[in-house]
Amino acid sequence: MTVQPMRDQTGRCLCGAVTFTATPNGGMHACHCPTCRRLSGGVLFSVDCGDSVRVEGGVATYVSSEWATRQFCPACGTGLFWRSNDGAITMVSAQAFDDPSGFALEDEFCIESKPEAYALAGDRPRLTTAELFAQFAPPEA
Ligand SMILES: [Zn+2]
Ligand SMILES: [Zn+2]
Repeated sequence: MTVQPMRDQTGRCLCGAVTFTATPNGGMHACHCPTCRRLSGGVLFSVDCGDSVRVEGGVATYVSSEWATRQFCPACGTGLFWRSNDGAITMVSAQAFDDPSGFALEDEFCIESKPEAYALAGDRPRLTTAELFAQFAPPEA
């Protein structure tokens, strides 16, 4: 069963200079892509919070692709947000929430980039990068 926390959730970076409140749209996504691997030091677990994220404190922004930026705390380096350029999607690091225990792990992205040495247990959709992009492709390309 998928846990869908609809109420506001709070979170922060490691040092506390950045805090946020957001309303998750569902559970966690795990991304194995090279950018997320380097950014997170492992697998990036994130939660789609749409445009509901309210941030207190200054974040630094890194342009990580043509369609999105990553935001992190400039003081402690905690990676916090993936933001689409149109502002419609903010993926919040699940690990930055004060209580990530309510998020079900829904799927895994960019599975072809996952190192062989580890795997996440359990059954769930595991999408390649091509399959992921196809999901988000506009209806009329
Ligand atoms: Zn910080
Ligand atoms: Zn990724």
